[in-house]
Parts: sequence; structure tokens; C-alpha cells
Amino acid sequence: MRVAIVGAGPAGLACAIELERRGIQPDIFERRYRVGLPHSFPMVLLQPFSAGGVSDQMVFLRDRLGIHLNPLQPLGRIVMHGPTRKAVIGGALGYILERGQGPDSVESQLLRQLTTPVTYNHHADYRSLAREYDYVVVADGRPDVARSLGYWQPHGRVAVRGAVILGRFEPQTVHMYLDTSFARQGFAVEIPFGPHHASLLLMVTGIRTDELNDHWARFLYRTGKSPEIVETFESEHETGLVSRRSHGNLLLAGNAGGFTETCLGLGVFAAVVSGVLAARAVAEDRDFEALARPLVRHAERMHLLRAALDRMDNADLDRLVGVLGLPGVRHLFYNARLNPMRLVPAVLALAARRRRIGLRAARGGK
Ligand SMILES: Cc1cc2nc3c(=O)[nH]c(=O)nc-3n(C[C@H](O)[C@H](O)[C@H](O)COP(=O)(O)OP(=O)(O)OC[C@H]3O[C@@H](n4cnc5c(N)ncnc54)[C@H](O)[C@@H]3O)c2cc1C
Repeated sequence: MRVAIVGAGPAGLACAIELERRGIQPDIFERRYRVGLPHSFPMVLLQPFSAGGVSDQMVFLRDRLGIHLNPLQPLGRIVMHGPTRKAVIGGALGYILERGQGPDSVESQLLRQLTTPVTYNHHADYRSLAREYDYVVVADGRPDVARSLGYWQPHGRVAVRGAVILGRFEPQTVHMYLDTSFARQGFAVEIPFGPHHASLLLMVTGIRTDELNDHWARFLYRTGKSPEIVETFESEHETGLVSRRSHGNLLLAGNAGGFTETCLGLGVFAAVVSGVLAARAVAEDRDFEALARPLVRHAERMHLLRAALDRMDNADLDRLVGVLGLPGVRHLFYNARLNPMRLVPAVLALAARRRRIGLRAARGGK
């Protein structure tokens, strides 16, 4: 059987590993000269927002999919900063890994589990590959193929500025900042590489990268940060859902298949899983849509949360942070065996109730 894979990111590489195990040697095309994003930055596998309700993403990848990834460190604490309030959530919250081209990046680790060579510097055209191969797995990290097939449901845009910063950091602690004055309906996050360097990412919804300067300056001002910056990068992304992930002999995996959720933009776990599932669908002639259903449901649920966040102003964000900091809610995050995703509707309802109470009190106070 002849299989082509477009893109050697997490989804394409995971797909290739699984195909190889099943005796199929795919042709893997990568437009860059090597695997990995040009900029090194730490990323999180966030347990409480785990696709498919998996209780430990790393263990699931290893034991259920045979994919081995070593994290930089576990994620033990998230400090949520609202516009004026703060909440600290602790526990087995996930893992911090590295992206980029370094030897320990997710992409480099996946590449080492593969013997099939990748064809680099090759910008593949899925249409011509579809004529030539039995199957084409599109894992190019973009919505373009889904859009051209009529399966792309756009939601919005996000402009990202990332900076690698020096300083002193708690290696297992991630700080997240919610404030519409700099992030609009997005957020900023500080993720440590280790005790001496970290990355700061600002993701602003609904703007383009050429508008980022003001937002970045406001972010630093509002959070009182004056970091020593060693490197910066910017990118722009479309967010949305994909209504179908298979079409004839095409399968869409990872970001191309809409598996990166639109709420926090997390998608590496789903990219790897969807890549493996695409390989299984090809090798066993199974229905990819059915195999990927739990991942799709997760993306849809996160999209509901995104829609709720889109309506929130700074007062709402403070209330949300307040709710997340309540001992009962916090306890559920501490307990990694429970999936707090199931609590999302309740947390949103509680935040909405507090908002109504706040509005009533404000009206009564006039
Ligand atoms: C700034 C930022 C921070 C993020 N942080 C996190 C995080 O903390 N946790 C998390 O889970 N997710 C995070 N994400 C999301 C995560 O990066 C994506 O979900 C993930 O990369 C999707 O993997 P993929 O393999 O589908 O696509 P990609 O990683 O985009 O890989 C696609 C590959 O295809 C190649 N390609 C593209 N077009 C072609 C072509 N025509 N021919 C050949 N090759 C092609 C590209 O060069 C690339 O190597 C973040 C994203 C961004 C932008």
C-alpha cells in the first residue's frame, strides 16, 4: 500500500511511526529543511483539559499508543492571574515539554522513533499526491485543505508574540494571565524551560501581528514585568472547527483536521493521537471519523468554553478566577483522577450566577 504524509509535525510523525509498525513505509514530505518549529519554546500537556478524558496523557501515549515522549518536567502548579484576582491550582496537572528543533523537542523525539526517512524541503501538493497514492494523510498544520473541501468552520484569528526570557523561575509552575485590556479574549502564559529561562507567550484574539506592539506593552505594564528577552517570535493563526476529517483517500490529522482546540489552542496530544488513529484507519481499512470521535467531541466541548470566554469582560474573568480558586473546585484539579472538563458547564454557570448577583447588587446600590 502506498501512503503519503504531508507534514512532519507531531501528527505526521506519529502517523508515520504507527504505519511503520504495521509494515507500511510511508513517504513523508516536509517543507522545512528539518523537523520542528524554528523557535524553541516550552509547551504544556494540560491534564485537566485532556482530550478524551485521558487520566495521564503521557502514560496513555506510552502504554496505549507506544509513543514515548520525555517531558522537561511535570507541571505541578498553575497560577491564574485575573485582572485583579489570583488563584493557585496545584496537583498532577500535566507536563512541560519542549517544541522546536533541539534534540529534546517533541518533533526530534518522535523522529528518533522512526526509521523511514523524511523528504525535506518538499512543499507537497495534496491534490497530486491523492492521484498517485492509495492514501494521503494531510498533517500540514493548516486549515487550507479542510477549507478547500468545504469542511472548515472558521471561528477567528489569534496573533501570537513569544519571547524567551531569562530570570528565576519555579520549574514546575506555569503562570496564566487573563485580561481583556492586553489579550482581548485570549491570554498570556509564562512557561519555564527550567530554573533560569522561560517563555512568555501572548495570544491576542481578533488582531493581526502588526497590532501586537501595543498589546505586548500593555501586558508587560499590567503584570509589572520587565523581562530580559533573548529572542522573540510572532505568528498568526486561524481558529475553527472541521466538520469532516476524511474525504476519498484523504485523511486530515492534527491541526489540519481541527484537532487543536479553540479555547486555549492546545493540540499536541490530539495531534499525536489523531496521527496514530489515521495510520490505524489506513492500515486496517477502518473509519477514521469513528476512531477520532472522542477527540472531535473534546474539540467541540472546548469550543463551547471558547464561546463562553468570548463573551466575558474583565469583571467576568475575575469571577472565573475566583471560582477556580474556591477550595472545592481547586480540590478537583488536585485530584488528577477526576476530569475537571466535566465541570466546565458548572463552573461557567457559577461564574454567570455570580455575575448576575454582582449586577443586581450594583443596581441595588445605585
Ligand atoms: C505559540 C504556540 C504555542 C502552543 N502551545 C501549545 C501547548 O502548550 N500545548 C499544546 O498542546 N499545543 C500547543 N500549541 C498547538 C500545537 O502547536 C499544535 O496543536 C500542533 O503543533 C499541531 O501539530 P500538527 O502536526 O498538526 O501541525 P504542525 O506542528 O504545524 O506541523 C505541520 C508540519 O507540516 C509542515 N508542512 C506544512 N505545509 C506543508 C506542505 N505543503 N508540504 C510539506 N510539509 C508541510 C510544516 O512545516 C510542519 O512541520 C501551540 C501553538 C502555538 C502556535
